[in-house]
Amino acid sequence: MLLSGTILKMRSEYADPVQYFLQVGAEELPMNELIGKNIRLSFTGQINCIACGKKTKTSFSQGFCYNCLQKAPEASETVMRPELSKAHLGIARDMDWARENDLCDHYVYLAVSGELKVGVTRHHQVPFRWIDQGATQAIILACTPNRHISGIIEVFLKNYYADKTNWRGMLQNITLKPVELIEEKMNAYMLLPAELQQYLQDDNQVWQINYPVIAYPQKISSVTFDKDPVIAGTLQGIKGQYLIFSDGRVLNIRKHNGYFLEVDV
Ligand SMILES: [Zn+2]
Repeated sequence: MLLSGTILKMRSEYADPVQYFLQVGAEELPMNELIGKNIRLSFTGQINCIACGKKTKTSFSQGFCYNCLQKAPEASETVMRPELSKAHLGIARDMDWARENDLCDHYVYLAVSGELKVGVTRHHQVPFRWIDQGATQAIILACTPNRHISGIIEVFLKNYYADKTNWRGMLQNITLKPVELIEEKMNAYMLLPAELQQYLQDDNQVWQINYPVIAYPQKISSVTFDKDPVIAGTLQGIKGQYLIFSDGRVLNIRKHNGYFLEVDV
């Protein structure tokens, strides 16, 4: 079967294991069925901006043309740095977009992906945000009415926790030491100043996430379509937004948002 079209980051469904779907143009490819099989992905050289759809020579910030990088609300700096959101003051690139995306409930969470990290997500992105990061466990620490306050809590906790995923450790499934998330949540809560403690999430559900991976690679090497326009091999598993091939090559699908591919399965 040959599909062609622009790709987006994989959609996921929370199941045991996680189910992944890759959109290729108008089609959606169920990826779990391809594990253990040969696949071939060829980049045609065309990149379309994921905001405006126009062709772009270079993809900025995982899929935007230069103009959208500067102007589109979904490419604003508050995506990476929630504490900079000023939507609660009526200031944003696009207030309609900000009302839906910044002025809604946000969670601060602790997740284990290689190591313990702190992060922020919109309420409707649970558990997909964690799946995108390849986290194996997560717990919600705080719930806030907007993005800004979650960002302030995250900035505070960055003094004590990592805020980036160690993607190598995540893909090799290395857990440095077992983490007791409920205990860790209480530790984090105790670290917060009183005015931020009020946002504590009462629910202590610990999310467990299992990924469809036959075996984790001992050694990994990252590949991109910019360097290798044709990437083919036996799919060994999927974790986070990465395809893992049997020879240890790993491909970050999200990094290639908007790339026009031919996919042969
Ligand atoms: Zn654009």
